[in-house]
Amino acid sequence: MVEVAARRAWAEVDLAAIRHNASLLAGRAAPASLCAVVKAAAYGHGSVAVARAALEGGASWLAVAIVEEGAVLRGHHIDAPILLLSEPVVESMDDVVALRLTPTLYTERGVEAAAKAVASAGASPLDVHVKVDTGMHRVGAGAEEALAVVQAIADRPELNFGGLWTHFAVADEPGNPFTDEQCRRFDDVVRRLPVRPRLVHASNSAGVLAHPGARHDMVRCGIALYGVAPSPALAAVQPVDGLRPALSLRARVSYVRDVAAGEAVSYGLRRPLGRAARVATVPVGYADGVPWRLGVEGGDVLIGGRRRPLAGSVTMDQIMVDCGDDAGVLPGDEVVLIGRQGAEQVTAWEWATKVGTIAYEVLCGIGPRVPKVYG
Ligand SMILES: *Cc1c(COP(=O)(O)O)cnc(C)c1O
Repeated sequence: MVEVAARRAWAEVDLAAIRHNASLLAGRAAPASLCAVVKAAAYGHGSVAVARAALEGGASWLAVAIVEEGAVLRGHHIDAPILLLSEPVVESMDDVVALRLTPTLYTERGVEAAAKAVASAGASPLDVHVKVDTGMHRVGAGAEEALAVVQAIADRPELNFGGLWTHFAVADEPGNPFTDEQCRRFDDVVRRLPVRPRLVHASNSAGVLAHPGARHDMVRCGIALYGVAPSPALAAVQPVDGLRPALSLRARVSYVRDVAAGEAVSYGLRRPLGRAARVATVPVGYADGVPWRLGVEGGDVLIGGRRRPLAGSVTMDQIMVDCGDDAGVLPGDEVVLIGRQGAEQVTAWEWATKVGTIAYEVLCGIGPRVPKVYG
């Protein structure tokens, strides 16, 4: 447990919510299994605790972006299968084998490197998945190349062809027909496989929520596991309304002062106060993930169960909040930046839409300086 009193700003991560969301998504995906995507420190929530909670809730796989993230999980004795979402560089294949991570492969060079690493370790055959690019054009082999990669894997006794997968580009846009096109391209490759792998998978969170026909054998959920909708357009879709946001960003007022009408607050002195106001300082800033832009667009925080506007620019380590004529706001009062307080709520999407980004970036932006407190 981290010492919260030291800094007075922290992220509370509700592991019961992670378990609940995993169980809801696993139920929704069944009979397909659930892979919990815990890359980027589990979208800012902390990968080890989230991985354990997701597995308890019903996930059977984990996925990470890079080998180092897999090493952290293995270092904490998490022995569930871990999928690497991109092909590891040749130099890291020995680590992949030693950690028993499941690499995604899409080049013959990658197949060669993985097989060599298994052989030189004298290890048992390694499960590998093949990624097909069906239209997102980030990573993955085209249809013909992917079939060649599958054949190269089948030819190597050091490797097991354990899965074939693809990734959707616009599944979070209801009504965009390109997801169906990606499904058609993917199904065509699946039909032409010389051997069927144990796991065929395609859906991210948005796929699970909006494209029930694309669940195959496994779904890979990130954002929904954290209780956040993939897009505002999907926020109203079942079962998003049953998901519970797991993270809240909280702090305590560190200082208050009463500022006269006509004075302005923070760098740039952008907005003179129309009337005298109590201004509360809160020790959290853009280095902790509060977007600088929020000070320009007009963000709110919650103190005493009420919405209070930022009084000026977000600074690196602190924000100032306009509490109006509320002389009841005092140092030590709890501030909610993201999350609920009383009947009020500020969501990651509220910040995101105000500053022109997505909730994913808001969550991943919560900095390493913010301690996680698990409940
Ligand atoms: C990050 C990622 C996911 C999870 O996406 P969400 O939208 O957060 O569910 C799934 N698959 C791949 C390949 C990813 O990179």
